[in-house]
Parts: sequence; C-alpha cells; structure tokens
Amino acid sequence: MKNDCLFCAIIAGEIPSKKVYEDEQCYAFYDIEPQAPTHFLVVPKEHICCAAKIDESNSSVVAHCFEVIAKICKELGVESYRIVNNCGDQAGQTVKHLHFHVLAGRDMTWPPG
Ligand code: 5GP
Ligand code: ZN
Repeated sequence: MKNDCLFCAIIAGEIPSKKVYEDEQCYAFYDIEPQAPTHFLVVPKEHICCAAKIDESNSSVVAHCFEVIAKICKELGVESYRIVNNCGDQAGQTVKHLHFHVLAGRDMTWPPG
C-alpha cells in the first residue's frame, strides 16, 4: 500500500466505494464520475503506478484483472464493453495506481478523443 495513493486507500476501505467484486489480487468498484451507464474500475491490490511499470514480476495480475472483467460482465449481463487504461498524464491518467476502466451501455466512438 502506498500512503498517498487514493486507490490504495479505497482498497484498504479507508475511503468508501461501491464494490463490484473483490478477491485476493484485485478490487473492482464503480467509478464516482461514470462516463457510461455502466462504468467500473478494476485495480490490482498491489500498488503499480501505471501500465508502463508492468513487467515480468507483476504481469500475471494484469491477466487476472482481464479474467475478472470477463466474469463481472457476464454476471452483470453486459455483452459489449470497452476496456480503457490511461497511462501517463498526456493520456489522461489522473490516479497513479494501475486501473482498467470498463465502460458499457452506450454506443462508443472510435477513434477515442
Ligand atoms: P484515470 O483518469 O486515472 O484514468 O481514471 C481515474 C478514475 O477514477 C476517474 O474516472 C475518476 O472518476 C475515478 N475516481 C477518482 N476519484 C474517485 C473516488 O474517490 N472514488 C471512485 N469510485 N472513483 C474515483
Ligand atoms: Zn496505490
């Protein structure tokens, strides 16, 4: 856990969140400012600051997050969805703890803005 990290605090339960799913490796919760009718975040419990810091020592949790996303979407009855990861400031990453956005329930544009 990183002391000044918002998502570490959410995972620890120090900041309330609307939980979707949890296991030993990851935590999923609804985004506070949803950008689609369904919008939740899946985060590794381990503090990894961004996708650029994924390497052979920690990449298995990324595969696990994607497994969990498929499982949650099936349970929610969501068949089509977009998974987004913003890495770095220019890409729009505001919380420096690796997370995957899962957005669904509306038409998505491509290319993204
Ligand atoms: P990023 O911009 O880093 O890709 O995504 C961060 C996301 O975290 C944003 O979509 C933002 O709405 C969400 N967020 C920021 N603070 C909180 C919070 O306190 N609770 C929840 N549930 N989501 C948050
Ligand atoms: Zn963190």
